[in-house]
Amino acid sequence: MNKQVADRVKSIKQSDIRRFSAICAAMGGVNLSQGVCDQPAPEAVKRAAQQAIDEDLASYTNLRGVIELRTAIAKKMRGFNGIECDPEKEIVVTVGSAGAFACIALATLNPGDECIVFSPFYGYHVNLLKLFGVGVRYVDLQPPDWSFDLAEIEAAFTPKTKMILLCTPANPSGKVFSKEELCSIAAAAKRHNVWIATDEIYEYITYGKTHVSIGALPEAKERTLTMSGGSKTYAITGWRIGYAVGPAEIIDRVSVVNDLLYICAPAPLQYGVVGGLGLPEKYYTEMRADYTVKRDMLIDTLREIGFTPFVPDGSYYMLASFEEGRWASATAATEAILNEVGVATVPGSAFYRNPADGDNQLRFCYAKKMADLEDACRRLRKLGGSRVKGAERLSRVG
Ligand code: GLN
Repeated sequence: MNKQVADRVKSIKQSDIRRFSAICAAMGGVNLSQGVCDQPAPEAVKRAAQQAIDEDLASYTNLRGVIELRTAIAKKMRGFNGIECDPEKEIVVTVGSAGAFACIALATLNPGDECIVFSPFYGYHVNLLKLFGVGVRYVDLQPPDWSFDLAEIEAAFTPKTKMILLCTPANPSGKVFSKEELCSIAAAAKRHNVWIATDEIYEYITYGKTHVSIGALPEAKERTLTMSGGSKTYAITGWRIGYAVGPAEIIDRVSVVNDLLYICAPAPLQYGVVGGLGLPEKYYTEMRADYTVKRDMLIDTLREIGFTPFVPDGSYYMLASFEEGRWASATAATEAILNEVGVATVPGSAFYRNPADGDNQLRFCYAKKMADLEDACRRLRKLGGSRVKGAERLSRVG
């Protein structure tokens, strides 16, 4: 067939996150690649969705989502994020937080506009912006603490800049932006009169640091669109229940886009998330404790096999570097580890503005059932040459 595809999709390819997950599934390996979060969802979430199905709550919902969910989100935004919002006007339930970002980008940005993004970044953010014809300007986060230079942010602004995008806790670095950092970003956004979009889907997954929402800063509120959802907090990544919170006028536009693209998020699953939002504090404390154990287990394993992990303060991903020359590239490392011990990761190069910056790094996801993560760690320890390399490294350091 000699048909042309649209220019906007010509250069888009399947993400490395999905690519290595697919290869891993085909060979029956352990997937530490895609953040699938294949752990059991809380009973309260499952029961609430089941009840909604049994009660035939199956029709289209309000284009902003069911009011029960928006009311529960408003309560959580006030209590957890420190953001007051009106459930009638300032919240829209979306098809995942990715859906929230798509609707926000379409409602705020024209083709040719620019958005500032921190690198390393979550590829879906960047590729979605590119899909919509939005230019991306990057600001580097410097490992190991992922700090950034305010002057670099200032230099990234051009007359075309319309938005600055945050992800905190960040995918893939695990950075949790501090209040001071967020204040400086808010001040820059105000000076240049641009939107702030913030993806906070990992907000409950932190290790000692407190999650701060930039939308809670008075000077940022009028320009901030906060995105989150149930995916990671309740281990329901495939349910696709997300939301966006922001000023009424822009949420009105975001809601219209949401309606045009998807009509609404799956109705009974919206009720499931209402069940989740009613869980006691203990649920979140236990989830954090569980992820802390898993994070530390992976850190120990990676150090043992000669990697240098960048210890994350939040999220359930970890970037770790390997010694220059151990593999020819991050992609070669990913393929070698998958072939040799059946553990899938993501090449670090997929997350950086200059792919070379991540070419000796891999991203590991540890949102796994404990038995699966243990299996992955056992397999990783069998990696050829890992002990030798690790021992050499340690003796050199010592
Ligand atoms: N957010 C998840 C990740 O970074 C997965 C999302 C996806 O499958 N695209 O792995």
